[in-house]
Amino acid sequence: MPVAAPSPTRRKRRAVIIGGSMSGLFAAAFLRQIGWEADVYERSPVELVGRGAGITTHPELLAALEASGAGTVDLGIEVPKRMAIDRQGRIKDERPLRQILTSWDRLQRLLRETIDEAHYHLGWTFERAEQDGSGVRVYFNGGRVENADILIGGDGVRSTVRGQVAPELQPIYAGYYIWRGAPNEAELSARTLKEIFPYFVFYLPPRQEVITYPIAGFNNDLRPGHRRYNFIWYRVADAAQLREMNVDENGVQHDYSVPPPLIRKDLVAQMYADAREIMPPVLLDCVVTMKQPFITPIYDFTAPRIVFGRVAMIGDAAANARPHMGFGVAKAGGDAQALAAALRDHGDIDTALKAYNSERQPIGNTIVMHSRKLGTHLGVNLRTEEDRRMHVLLQDDGAIMDWIAVPNFLDAYR
Ligand SMILES: Cc1cc2nc3c(=O)[nH]c(=O)nc-3n(C[C@H](O)[C@H](O)[C@H](O)COP(=O)(O)OP(=O)(O)OC[C@H]3O[C@@H](n4cnc5c(N)ncnc54)[C@H](O)[C@@H]3O)c2cc1C
Repeated sequence: MPVAAPSPTRRKRRAVIIGGSMSGLFAAAFLRQIGWEADVYERSPVELVGRGAGITTHPELLAALEASGAGTVDLGIEVPKRMAIDRQGRIKDERPLRQILTSWDRLQRLLRETIDEAHYHLGWTFERAEQDGSGVRVYFNGGRVENADILIGGDGVRSTVRGQVAPELQPIYAGYYIWRGAPNEAELSARTLKEIFPYFVFYLPPRQEVITYPIAGFNNDLRPGHRRYNFIWYRVADAAQLREMNVDENGVQHDYSVPPPLIRKDLVAQMYADAREIMPPVLLDCVVTMKQPFITPIYDFTAPRIVFGRVAMIGDAAANARPHMGFGVAKAGGDAQALAAALRDHGDIDTALKAYNSERQPIGNTIVMHSRKLGTHLGVNLRTEEDRRMHVLLQDDGAIMDWIAVPNFLDAYR
């Protein structure tokens, strides 16, 4: 169900939304439904693309896409089951589980189509905001200034908006990172295509986790032969090792991660060598077929509140979980939908923002804590008895298949 019908008597209220990705677009769609004017400002001067990243879907995401007007037509590829394989590529265990796997690009395209060009502004970087209790004044790089009733921070895990209202909240490195990429279906071997391509696959060498599943090809091509295979390989590295990995091909030190084309050749060569040591042939085929493997260090953080006066945080900017549940976009949709519903249900904006904070801050916190539980599989920073118990439990293939990226995991917390 859409969030609401607009009230004909209320003066048109306005939101400035920072970030033109998932949460920003969801927020604009849901606010428009309650009669607000909503403008999205994205720092990228060109349309966003997701480097072929795969996205697991959840019932909450499908519901948010339908309610927002983006819809779910040709969303992705449905797998019939998940399975765990051994070093030879033989099936060790399996679970029937129908799940739609999509890609970041497909979601971005669907959501992007919901917004009128006049309200989507590329090439504007948020710098700072002032608020006086009744509204916000928003300043952008380049001198642009916008006034609004509320400012929405949908600008991701390293949010500049959050940096202004809560600079103490910083993402924390989890102690592990992933190599990832998306080889083309057409270039994979016949064996890989037959044995693993149609499925959600897990492979668990000690203190590592490999996850693969099919996604759409370039331009969201879902035709057999034109799709890609999402490949994710979790590996452990402490902060000092990560810092060393964040030195690029030209010797430049990066703070968080190195852009894919600049990843050092020696790191890529070592990754290939390690893959040859431990991967089953079907997964090694994926590794050597990837065009430009890239590294994503895993960070997370949670926030004691997500509303700061007339500034509301949503999506990864509000709370960022490790990606073990594949729930980030579902959360972005849920945050945006809840924010619009609160603004619809409370005439007073400040009361509405408080209600939004009360509803979504605990959910964000729960999601982050759950992701830390799943991360214990990798055996990093096991601080409590519970961490150690989860670590032992998650060494089992069946347990991993029952916990990682499964639908309805939040039900256990309701
Ligand atoms: C390895 C990995 C796997 C994942 N797998 C899944 C999955 O399977 N399923 C799933 O649902 N989620 C998954 N996620 C999470 C998902 O990608 C994120 O939760 C989602 O992209 C968050 O959307 P967002 O709009 O909140 O933030 P982002 O997508 O980070 O977008 C923030 C936007 O804000 C812009 N911006 C930043 N600063 C400024 C500024 N100062 N001014 C203007 N614009 C600015 C940025 O350019 C960017 O476009 C995964 C994440 C990772 C790292």
